[in-house]
Amino acid sequence: MSLYSVKMRASKNAHHVSGAERILNQEDLPQAVSCLTQRALHHSLGTADFINFKVEALAEAEVKHLPALPVSTRPCTTIAESFALMTSLLKELNLAEPVKLVELLRSTHPMRGAILYDVATNKQLEPDPERGIRVTYMDAAGAGCSSSGKNHFREALVLATKVVNTPGMLAELCMSDDPDYVTGYLASLKHGYTRLTPLKSVGDPHGGRVFIFDSRLGDPAQAIHFLEKEPVLVDGLPIEAPALPDPEAPFAEALAQLKQKSLYRSMRTMTSEQARHSTVNTKPMLLMSSNSYLDLTADPRVKAAAVEAAQAWGAGSGGSRLTTGNTLLAEQLENKLAQLKGKEAALLFNTGYMANLGIISALADKESVIFSDELNHASIIDGCRLSRARLVVYKHNDMQDLEAKIKQTPCSKGLIVSDAVFSMDGDILNLPDFVALGEKYHLLTMVDEAHATGVIGATGKGIVEHYGNKYAPNLIMGTLSKALGSEGGFVCASRVLREYLINKARSFIFSTAQCPAALAAAHKAIEIIEAEPERVRALQQNVLYFCSCLKELGIEASSPTAIIPLVVGDEARALAVAKELEEKGVLIPAIRYPTVPKGTARLRIALMATHTQAELKHTAELIKQALEHHQ
Ligand code: PMP
Repeated sequence: MSLYSVKMRASKNAHHVSGAERILNQEDLPQAVSCLTQRALHHSLGTADFINFKVEALAEAEVKHLPALPVSTRPCTTIAESFALMTSLLKELNLAEPVKLVELLRSTHPMRGAILYDVATNKQLEPDPERGIRVTYMDAAGAGCSSSGKNHFREALVLATKVVNTPGMLAELCMSDDPDYVTGYLASLKHGYTRLTPLKSVGDPHGGRVFIFDSRLGDPAQAIHFLEKEPVLVDGLPIEAPALPDPEAPFAEALAQLKQKSLYRSMRTMTSEQARHSTVNTKPMLLMSSNSYLDLTADPRVKAAAVEAAQAWGAGSGGSRLTTGNTLLAEQLENKLAQLKGKEAALLFNTGYMANLGIISALADKESVIFSDELNHASIIDGCRLSRARLVVYKHNDMQDLEAKIKQTPCSKGLIVSDAVFSMDGDILNLPDFVALGEKYHLLTMVDEAHATGVIGATGKGIVEHYGNKYAPNLIMGTLSKALGSEGGFVCASRVLREYLINKARSFIFSTAQCPAALAAAHKAIEIIEAEPERVRALQQNVLYFCSCLKELGIEASSPTAIIPLVVGDEARALAVAKELEEKGVLIPAIRYPTVPKGTARLRIALMATHTQAELKHTAELIKQALEHHQ
């Protein structure tokens, strides 16, 4: 059987567009020429106007057979990481200056032949540096010509196999000059063909090859002759490149793990407004877990205020507060909030979460210390992290521990921060001691009243009222999204702090202001709370009544707020109990890690002012049954 070498080079307007070669049997020649012609005519760089074929017979005895290098793939997250990996692989070959070699690859210009770099003399050995070394006379054994497209992987593996089998050759580094092909490789007899990805960003036409040679181990002239003239067929080539790992795979795996640990979260679809009686996936449901404690999101007056504001002021605010988004509505609501909380001034944020993030990261920096309760809400924790202040976590509501830690950590700039009502446990901060410690040690004090506003204090004004209006933290943060039935966050503080936050709080500065409907709804809700303090009293009485129902059934429960946690412990059990309750028409989702510590999964019951005693009694019975069913 006679073998032939076929080489195709195609150009357009005298610019190279495509080049390829084959070594094949005589009978496969016509088809190969046809395939390669197709390739030249359908290249992404354009249709060739000049195609040059060179066909030569080869003496079969001259053709050297080499086994294909074993292939592995080493995906990295960044280009820098891929090059770091390339450097460390070169180190494994005992090369003295791996960084220099990698730099050489990165600085080669596209469409040049390879650099032949001699590590013995630190010189480049290409006879013509503009042309470089062009490796030819090679193919996969029995490749035929089934496709007109370019198979980067197969062609590169053939070339690399030839290169690293050149006497004196230590390794090859390659980065494709195809702008869309970001995978390169390092090849050596030690490492095989190691695919490295990404080596560049998509669209980058940069590429090149560096052959790393040692002239003490081989003769350069012979090496160049082998690379450019001696025919090689590579045996055992894999048909397909091993699939690069799916970049989404780690996330799918993480989700599977969460499911296995009963920590997977998903959303349920509410199909009606948020009210005591809602529908979930169109099924009627008694909500025993809503933060709309006073059932005001569904109040006709609150809804009407939102509608009117949308009509009068538009659907959105059109800008941040510091550009075009500051409306009279926002300022009026801030005045109302400041008055409600007995502070000089107030500032709105888009959500409670953004309020905590913005306030804490503006007030504290690398020089500050923040003392934070171990059960503080995630938004406080995230604000602390963002500030880069030193964080000192003290035991839950333990003022002795807090004082001890303050003493251990002297600081010139400090903040103590705590939930006023703890969101997952429903207990209340020891405000008198908290404020006293702030004063004693000259630290700013900040409370988060997300679950206090509209809930505690004789008229629902919150924690300061709850303790008889005697203790005033510097900052009272809160949200409009819970008892106030709307959405948005706020902070009440001195005028100075308000001004400072306007200038420094990034979640305030760089976000579009709230929509008019949300502002007007919250304003109306505050007016209703002020006019109807009996709502707050009804909520407080519901808590007492519901806890007594549970106790009668032998379930220990008590809470001074609207949040009643029933700690079940095991995550799977909590999910099972919650599921049974949902099937029976009562919605109390299970709260699990990381919202609460591992092994303290719970049913977080949240009452509303409008729940009837009959509903509360019935729910207590359903809870007892569900707990019994899932021991
Ligand atoms: N702080 C606490 C204590 C909370 O419970 C929440 C809401 N879960 C927030 C802040 C965040 O408020 P918002 O929902 O308005 O972002």
